[in-house]
Amino acid sequence: MTSTTAELEALLMQRSLTDVQLLAAADAAADFRILPNATVLKIGGQSVIDRGRAAVYPLVDEIVAARKEHKLLIGTGAGTRARHIYSIAAGLNLPAGLLSQLGGSVADQNAAMLGQLLAKHGISAVDGAGLSSVPLFLAEVNAVVFSGMPPYKLWMRPAAEGVIPPYRTDAGCFLVAEQFGCRAMIYVKDENGLYTENPKTSKNATFIPRISVDEMKAKGLQDSILEFPVLDLLKNARHVREVQVVNGLVPGNLTRALAGEHVGTIITAR
Ligand code: ADP
Ligand code: MG
Repeated sequence: MTSTTAELEALLMQRSLTDVQLLAAADAAADFRILPNATVLKIGGQSVIDRGRAAVYPLVDEIVAARKEHKLLIGTGAGTRARHIYSIAAGLNLPAGLLSQLGGSVADQNAAMLGQLLAKHGISAVDGAGLSSVPLFLAEVNAVVFSGMPPYKLWMRPAAEGVIPPYRTDAGCFLVAEQFGCRAMIYVKDENGLYTENPKTSKNATFIPRISVDEMKAKGLQDSILEFPVLDLLKNARHVREVQVVNGLVPGNLTRALAGEHVGTIITAR
């Protein structure tokens, strides 16, 4: 169905904003990608940045080389310092919204550090990944660093149980990629990808090179290598229909993944 602006406006004035016909009319235009040539990278907090120089310096080198050919939006995770502050705040029975603010400040710390490491290459860290200056950074130097926590802060939607914010940096980076219609979303972590069980604690874990969201849920892996809400965000996405999780501790993996190679686990919407 193709509807005109006037038809859509008439529906919007009269109907509930979740009316089926209204939603179809609002969806009639072709999908539009805002930054179709950019790739979003998430540099893991606990899995990468917390390992310090040994993990981070080689990735900085890869990023600097890769941005000659790729446009990179580089989001940061939070990690161990966030888990520490969550443990204190949860112990004080403080709510998810406050924990979200606290976790966000740790992702900010990591973005500040990564920004300093990339500064001499002309790559800046920006506050919030809002569009204002991001296109300019991408046009001029092909890369920009942002803090991966989504800015829900006190308005974080709480999980069904507990006070840990469900939308953390895996979700924040995915939402940036989907919002801007980016070409790819790559999670840089410390394992080769998804396994049948957590490889850190299970010797029998076997590697899964490719899997869909539904298969992951069926295997009980919905809360494993990615935060669980990312699976539903991916399943309903218009633009980013698959993500790849790669081992950033293996030199060259990030570069190969950016070139479209399958070096980790590819998780697909369908
Ligand atoms: P980040 O640093 O990006 O927040 P996380 O530490 O949250 O990354 O997630 C990566 C970790 O997930 C891995 O180090 C691994 O120990 C854990 N993990 C749990 N279950 C699995 C699984 N089934 N396959 C792979 N990794 C898993
Ligand atoms: Mg994590």
